[in-house]
Amino acid sequence: MIPPAFDYLTPQSLSEVIGLLHQHGPDAKVLAGGHSLIPAMRLRFAEPCHLIDISGLEDLNCIREADGLLRIGAMTREADLEDSEIVQTGYPILLDTAKMIADPQVRNLAPVGATSRTVILPMTIPPPCPPCGQVEITGQGGKRIVPIDEFFPDFFTTVLDHGEILTEIQIPAPPPNSGGAYLKIECKVGDDAGAAGAAQVSWDEDAEPTLQAVLQTHVSYVAFIGSKKQARALKEYLQQEGIPGKRLDALYAPAGLDLQAKSPGEIAVSVLAEIVQLQAQLS
Ligand SMILES: Cc1cc2nc3c(=O)[nH]c(=O)nc-3n(C[C@H](O)[C@H](O)[C@H](O)COP(=O)(O)OP(=O)(O)OC[C@H]3O[C@@H](n4cnc5c(N)ncnc54)[C@H](O)[C@@H]3O)c2cc1C
Repeated sequence: MIPPAFDYLTPQSLSEVIGLLHQHGPDAKVLAGGHSLIPAMRLRFAEPCHLIDISGLEDLNCIREADGLLRIGAMTREADLEDSEIVQTGYPILLDTAKMIADPQVRNLAPVGATSRTVILPMTIPPPCPPCGQVEITGQGGKRIVPIDEFFPDFFTTVLDHGEILTEIQIPAPPPNSGGAYLKIECKVGDDAGAAGAAQVSWDEDAEPTLQAVLQTHVSYVAFIGSKKQARALKEYLQQEGIPGKRLDALYAPAGLDLQAKSPGEIAVSVLAEIVQLQAQLS
């Protein structure tokens, strides 16, 4: 189907985009790579009268580290994550993820900000990373920062108001001695995940603050590997710090099924076995 007629606008600056959004109100939509919006328009699911193409906003195309945060501009192409030395060296979980989004043609054109906006980001970009991050939103009133957990109040819904756009994704730099991995199983390239798993691991003398931060998100399986005595002390500490009982249920301490595991590989298998068991109980 051919979409209904629309005005095509090509602003060259962020302030121009915000001005146009304000001027045209709910009749306007921003266009990034167009992979999702154009098909939606062809199906009449979206009928904007004004399309504001933001692909010219080169200022929003950057990956940098500042103030302990990885800052990814909203117009950074998904493929740029793969090529970024910063991501390659410091954020392996993000690198794994970027390689699994869609196919190279889509990744070359679709910016990270649009992925987040369409709420497809949680489909591929794994929870251990983004829920600990935040997004920068820009509108007529200036900029505001929203924790990524609060950015999606519901499925296919964001807290963006009319006249606002997402301008940056900010992810805290992982602590030293940590690493992560993401695996998506798909039948063919570009398919949705048949199954996916993500893990972010930190080797930290002082695990309590990290676990406390993670338990304040919606992550449903948080693993602590240590002795039963350490696990008891940890739970007491977290209770005293006010982590509600419901969230403490997400903490598996010590993590893993009791397989008498000793080596790191065996422990990993016991943790995976526990996840499989929990998954089976849910379905
Ligand atoms: C064949 C195919 C396979 C895919 N597979 C995957 C996958 O495996 N995993 C995955 O995560 N994604 C996948 N995607 C989604 C893809 O990665 C893009 O995220 C998606 O297409 C949106 O990017 P776009 O540039 O096309 O956005 P557009 O279609 O231009 O925009 C999408 C929406 O976001 C809005 N928007 C865009 N930028 C902003 C902004 N900065 N602020 C506010 N609103 C904005 C637009 O108004 C529109 O409503 C796939 C897409 C295709 C076409």
